[in-house]
Amino acid sequence: MNDIFNLEGKTALITGASSGLGKHFAKTLAGAGASVILSARRVENLEALKNEIGLQASCIPLDVTSAESIDNLIKEIRNTSGSLDILINNAGVSDPLRFKDLTEESWNYVLETNLNGAFRMAKAVTDIFLEDKKGGSIINIASILGIRVGLNLTSYAAAKAGLIQLTKSMALELARSNIRVNAIAPGYILTEINDDFFDTQEGQSYIKSIPMRRLGLESELDGILLLLASDASSFITGSIIPVDGGHLVNPL
Ligand code: NAD
Repeated sequence: MNDIFNLEGKTALITGASSGLGKHFAKTLAGAGASVILSARRVENLEALKNEIGLQASCIPLDVTSAESIDNLIKEIRNTSGSLDILINNAGVSDPLRFKDLTEESWNYVLETNLNGAFRMAKAVTDIFLEDKKGGSIINIASILGIRVGLNLTSYAAAKAGLIQLTKSMALELARSNIRVNAIAPGYILTEINDDFFDTQEGQSYIKSIPMRRLGLESELDGILLLLASDASSFITGSIIPVDGGHLVNPL
């Protein structure tokens, strides 16, 4: 039964693999047998992760805000591993600000990475899938903030809501080409970059609003990641799957 999650023979591209969830996703996919292409701006972090994973990993620098950088990445993939089966569209940023203090510069920074960058990557990888005529799986890393709202996160919530609609629209148009497009909408997951925040009073009050009264662990995204990446989800497309300890169903 476990074999349906096996990724041997498949190649996965992970954006934003230099830290946090992207780094974890790369290790999980490699653990299931996939070859992984690690991409982000901080090449030294990618090299360290590549050394940790071993021969199954390679790394290519990437800035999702630059069309030129994406072109270079695609050329390098074509020249080396050749093809792709899975995209984990994970690169993301946030810039928390009260709406009254939100500037156009901050708004553009978040939208440019989280929505336009994800669109560019999804488009470039779809082109590969279509050229190779073998289908593929795109997994967009959205957020419960694409579905509900939170204080100080207008641009982030708007970008993630856009990413969710991008996911559904792509799923609709690409289904007949056997390209599946789904999104994971994590709630608050403890990573190396946010653990300080969750020790603060504000962080603790967030945790009280989660029905399970705790943060998620990176490993608690593994099941859904492997499901969506593998042929186990061959009839699932256009789905937005929250992994949030019940945060979306907290009482109004
Ligand atoms: P993180 O900051 O550790 O990871 C973000 C990654 O994206 C980093 O590797 C960063 O270098 C990369 N990145 C940022 N801008 C980039 C660019 N222009 N080009 C290429 N790479 C770029 O944070 P994280 O928590 O691991 O977040 C990963 C994803 O998960 C994000 O999309 C985030 O919105 C989403 N998410 C995280 C949580 C959480 O609780 N950690 C919850 C919901 C959604």
